[in-house]
Amino acid sequence: MPSVRESSEVVVIGAGPAGLTLANLLRRAGVQCVVLERQSRSYVQRRQRAGVLDHAGTRIFEEAGLAEVLAGMPGDSTLEIRVDGRPRFLDVPALSDGRTGRIVPQQVLVGRLIATFLEGGGDLRFDAAEVTPHDLDGDEPRVTYRDADGAVHEIACAYVAGCDGHHGVSRASVSADALTTYSYDHGIGWLTVLADVPPPRNPLFAITSHGFAAQFPRGPKASRFYLECAPDDTLDDWSDERIWAQLRLRLGDEDLPAGPITEKAIVEMRSFVVDPMRYGRLLLAGDAAHIVTPMGGKGMNLAIGDADVLARALRATLRDGDGEPLDAYSATCLERVWNYQEYSCWMTEMVHEAGDATLAGTFRRGLARARLDRLFTSEPAARAFADLMAGG
Ligand SMILES: Cc1cc2nc3c(=O)[nH]c(=O)nc-3n(C[C@H](O)[C@H](O)[C@H](O)COP(=O)(O)OP(=O)(O)OC[C@H]3O[C@@H](n4cnc5c(N)ncnc54)[C@H](O)[C@@H]3O)c2cc1C
Repeated sequence: MPSVRESSEVVVIGAGPAGLTLANLLRRAGVQCVVLERQSRSYVQRRQRAGVLDHAGTRIFEEAGLAEVLAGMPGDSTLEIRVDGRPRFLDVPALSDGRTGRIVPQQVLVGRLIATFLEGGGDLRFDAAEVTPHDLDGDEPRVTYRDADGAVHEIACAYVAGCDGHHGVSRASVSADALTTYSYDHGIGWLTVLADVPPPRNPLFAITSHGFAAQFPRGPKASRFYLECAPDDTLDDWSDERIWAQLRLRLGDEDLPAGPITEKAIVEMRSFVVDPMRYGRLLLAGDAAHIVTPMGGKGMNLAIGDADVLARALRATLRDGDGEPLDAYSATCLERVWNYQEYSCWMTEMVHEAGDATLAGTFRRGLARARLDRLFTSEPAARAFADLMAGG
């Protein structure tokens, strides 16, 4: 039996980029919401993942009057693609007619979105255990949870926003036959390393016969590295010594300093989409509905894009009595989701197959090299690529 009964127009499950963007946009629109987050505030503010907000994401915050969450974040710059040690550059800002994104470490954005929401009087509850949605297929859904003191709360609401990531409770609470899922394993592994190493001058992709590698800025003093590895590799296969040796080899940079490694993880190179992103009164957003490989840097951007569409749709239905945008929510988001999935897959295949030693002399290697070369020999092709980077 719940010991505390409450109500709100919307319950948002999860305080990641999707949930926090949605909560801030709803508050700006005058729609009441409660955010329930399983973890502590310090935990979510320390979780370092994405690092690039595309132009479309930037516009969402600017247009909502939330530009302050991006204050001081530098703009996107030229992209370097180093092929067998030879540098080639794409001037992404120029190719996208100035539609630049920002270098935004995810944990900094999350921290600022939390602060902005709370300073504006928002209701955000950390350490919410056993969060469970109920009666999602009726007109009166509820969400229950246990707070840090052990009290069980029940919140009656009009809608539940499932923003609790790929392993959250929201999607899991819908019977499997109500949703169609699409999943794709890219058949490669990636090791990701966060280290206190000065960021590269430009975001850097390295294509070599030793495997793919990349280095991206994560704030003024840190870099995130990616290293292609075997799909069944574990962290035990990657000592620090091996990591630095492979990075120097693949990036073609013998002088790369070996700074302290602050995080090391194997990344699943898997893509996933659920259709529809709605079940009754439950609306799924962000990684709860889809995951995209880190290649192309679109995961956080999709989460923020979903939140924007959802906030507008909830406002229309709850304030104006117009249910059409909410009915169209899933289809509207999925169009962009599939577009970004295609971009991420195309890029993943291109950068790996253009270097893959096992494909040397094969037709597939020829195709991958042609795709890569086209970016540097055809301005329309380079512009199309920059347009996808900018997002929309
Ligand atoms: C190593 C790595 C690098 C990445 N790099 C990039 C990049 O460069 N660019 C990019 O755009 N994307 C990148 N991504 C993807 C990006 O981080 C995600 O797409 C993004 O975090 C999705 O945001 P979200 O809010 O949907 O989900 P999440 O960030 O996963 O947030 C979900 C929240 O819900 C909470 N939660 C979960 N279960 C419950 C529950 N039962 N009850 C209550 N709360 C719950 C979680 O604690 C979490 O705070 C990367 C991801 C990884 C792992």
